[in-house]
Amino acid sequence: MTATDLSAPRFLPQLACETVPRYTSYPPATGFRAETGAENWVSWMQDLPETPAVSLYLHVPFCKSMCWYCGCHTTIPNRRERIERYVEALLIELDQRAAQLPADHQVHHIHFGGGSPDMLNPAEMTRIMERLRARFTLAPDAEIAAELDPRGVTGELAANLADNGFNRVSLGVQDLSEEVQTLIHRIQPLTTVERAVATLRAAGIAAINLDIMYGLPAQTRERVARTARCAAMLKPDRIALFGYAHVPWFKKHQRAIPEDRLPGAQARFEQMFTATGVLELAGYQPVGFDHFARPDDALAVAARTGKLNRNFQGYTDDRYDVLIGLGASAISEAPGGYVQNETDPAVFAEALENGQSALVRGRGRSVEERRTGARIERVLCDFHLASGTIDDADRAALEDLLQLGLVEEQDGHLQVTAAGRPYVRNIAARLDPAFNAGTERHSVAV
Ligand code: SF4
Repeated sequence: MTATDLSAPRFLPQLACETVPRYTSYPPATGFRAETGAENWVSWMQDLPETPAVSLYLHVPFCKSMCWYCGCHTTIPNRRERIERYVEALLIELDQRAAQLPADHQVHHIHFGGGSPDMLNPAEMTRIMERLRARFTLAPDAEIAAELDPRGVTGELAANLADNGFNRVSLGVQDLSEEVQTLIHRIQPLTTVERAVATLRAAGIAAINLDIMYGLPAQTRERVARTARCAAMLKPDRIALFGYAHVPWFKKHQRAIPEDRLPGAQARFEQMFTATGVLELAGYQPVGFDHFARPDDALAVAARTGKLNRNFQGYTDDRYDVLIGLGASAISEAPGGYVQNETDPAVFAEALENGQSALVRGRGRSVEERRTGARIERVLCDFHLASGTIDDADRAALEDLLQLGLVEEQDGHLQVTAAGRPYVRNIAARLDPAFNAGTERHSVAV
């Protein structure tokens, strides 16, 4: 019998099953409150630098059909008029929010998320992009990205996106086995994904991201490995590997997922570990705890040079002074704090039609919260905290993880070890003085 190698990642059930925030913001969105909204946002805009770097996020809350695992804010529109009304409201909000910005700003990133932005028809997408260019100053090399459903990618859609300046697309792949796809209500054979990638590349959209998942019903290590291998063979620039978050109390449609087919905690860990191995063998560099990128990709470079960040879309190389979220449920971020839009698309549209703001909740950040948020971000991005930032309270909070060899303290630096990487969200939660284990509902750590 060999002694346990403490430096290798190993399954630790208590930590893997702990429910902890994903820390795409600090404080997490579960702490947003109705008393923070439009007035706070306007005052935070006045505190921006004179020439702020701006990022835009536009939410399209529509899909053709519901995937049972979905954790996004989306709906299935029964009439096209619902989308048309939403686009009009989005344009009103775009005018409203652009007018609050310093005139001398520059937009470096635009991201259309959802939902499925391919639910917009070419004329609608062109209208939105023309209005964006009229109201905001776009940097000549701005990244313009969209999340697309591969089943919705056509030659017409790809040509329209390319004409409108899109240069990056993310496609949801999830799992390629027919049984898993049936259980998650998303039938999408490999040929559909291959065709979508080829169509986008032929239109001139070179940067492709693929999303794959583990922890879905009927997934096995072999199925996850095959999906990861097929994804890598398509040679995308980036691959995201997400663990399925089963939160049926929050997302009611997830009740359609047969719980007796969900892999257990150890199986999830092994699936994650297997996919990581396949992607690394294929030449992808791990970025943070759930992304992979080709070594020459900007995200991989950012990870190697300590310039990686986290925002509501996960890991990013984007550095902005202000992120403006447009559309139902979209979250905006400024140094002063966060605000979120109304989540129901019809209520969102009604507010804007009536000349009101769609911002309904948010959270300011104290100096101390900004410091805590920055430390959590650095540990999730760099697996490291620099000298002088560790105190006795941290040591006490991390004691069990130090003993397990998941973190080490070296000359005042905190280093997450190879064994600790899968548990970096648990480590981040220990650095969060406001986190109350067991009293908040989040997704499991692994
Ligand atoms: S396509 Fe994406 S956003 Fe739409 S239901 Fe499926 S997982 Fe959710």
